[in-house]
Amino acid sequence: MENKTPKPVSVKIEKELHVCPQCGYDDGFHTSFVRLTKETCKIILICPSCHARYDPDWKVEIHSSPQRERRTQRKGNIKGKSS
Ligand SMILES: [Zn+2]
Repeated sequence: MENKTPKPVSVKIEKELHVCPQCGYDDGFHTSFVRLTKETCKIILICPSCHARYDPDWKVEIHSSPQRERRTQRKGNIKGKSS
């Protein structure tokens, strides 16, 4: 059913990865963020030329809205705004 997107090929990055192993395109990759859990995404590299997908096994943590986080960090001033 969901065979539209090819499974990412896992790659190991030695010194640098900017050349597509499949087609030789050498201007770097597009990126895609695939959500794994609520808090983590993995980064998929996509060749702009042949659209091969590569998985360098990078993960990023997603935090909820930075604004909200900033607000909760300012503790001790919770009752500041009562009219
Ligand atoms: Zn390519």
